[in-house]
Amino acid sequence: MKERIIVIAEHAGGRAAPVTGELVACAQVIQNHLGLDIQILVAGQGIEVLADKLARQTGLDVVAIPMDEPAGDETGFYKRLPKSLFADLHPAYICIAHTPRGLDFAGGLAARLDAAFIPGVEKVVQHEKGVCFTRGVFNDKLMSEVISNASVTVLTVQPGRFKPNLPTAVLPGRVRVQKAVTVPAGSRFMGYQSKQSGPSALDAAEVIVSAGNGIGNKENLDLIYRLAEIFPKSAVAGSRPVCDKKWLTYKHQVGTTGRRVAPRLYIACGISGASQHIAGMRDSGFIVAINRDPRAAIFNFADACVVEDLTSFIPLLIETYQNENR
Ligand SMILES: Cc1cc2nc3c(=O)[nH]c(=O)nc-3n(C[C@H](O)[C@H](O)[C@H](O)COP(=O)(O)OP(=O)(O)OC[C@H]3O[C@@H](n4cnc5c(N)ncnc54)[C@H](O)[C@@H]3O)c2cc1C
Repeated sequence: MKERIIVIAEHAGGRAAPVTGELVACAQVIQNHLGLDIQILVAGQGIEVLADKLARQTGLDVVAIPMDEPAGDETGFYKRLPKSLFADLHPAYICIAHTPRGLDFAGGLAARLDAAFIPGVEKVVQHEKGVCFTRGVFNDKLMSEVISNASVTVLTVQPGRFKPNLPTAVLPGRVRVQKAVTVPAGSRFMGYQSKQSGPSALDAAEVIVSAGNGIGNKENLDLIYRLAEIFPKSAVAGSRPVCDKKWLTYKHQVGTTGRRVAPRLYIACGISGASQHIAGMRDSGFIVAINRDPRAAIFNFADACVVEDLTSFIPLLIETYQNENR
């Protein structure tokens, strides 16, 4: 039996998450190098409808695993599926989203399958020794290139790194509905409680000034708010550490576990440029980064790079603006 690339689709509310198209795009790059078939695996309540949609949109064969458990517990469900179910799909590569949901089961799945695990894949290239996966390390300051020697490799794919490339007219793939008997669970899913309430000011802002851990303390948020005030239609955002420390609420967090924003101007202040943050703001029109470390990863994405201490640069910037607009 020919080995395959298996894409585990992420979905919510009956719709495929945008990252699912990106997983297919990543699988297509691997396919271009190795010529393997791609198959989508999707589990959920009443999943046949979404499976059919995916098969029509992508032209790929889909294995749909209906789930009796409450909707939302797909990651727990994947953990309870028997190892043989995955093995029977003959995977050479299993592509899972590098999102909180994907990360919840990807590592465990790799361990159960005795597979190699490459988390946070950002690029796939052909190397003379085989297909090579690029991932950020040391807070994305360095990129490492990894080749797997294992017969099965589980990858988690960074959101925002592979452009979905779905064919416009394509014959639908086949959908196979497979009932699965799950192994007993050690935990019970109780439901999700969202911390994000309603729409955020970030969605409407044309300019976002974003505070990172580099602001040093909560008091320095004042600088960020004063800089934002210069611009009409502006809002203040933050990286995850800033929200974890409760300097800002989670409504302000930009990134994979926060908001995905695309303002005309994004000013990153004291933000290192970890891939989880970049995934939430890389579609911004123009990116300015202020960071005192000239090697900060954020500068790889910025249109304007300011290598300065933000506590001295931002007051100067505000003062210069005020003097010129008096
Ligand atoms: C599953 C998962 C999901 C995640 N989701 C998110 C997410 O949604 N959003 C998110 O942001 N992160 C997320 N993270 C965390 C992410 O990996 C990084 O840890 C985080 O983005 C780092 O935040 P930071 O850049 O503000 O802080 P740091 O990494 O601490 O960087 C601070 C930067 O400030 C600079 N600096 C320090 N002092 C100054 C100064 N005085 N002037 C100028 N520059 C200065 C430093 O050089 C450094 O580059 C996630 C992580 C995981 C594992």
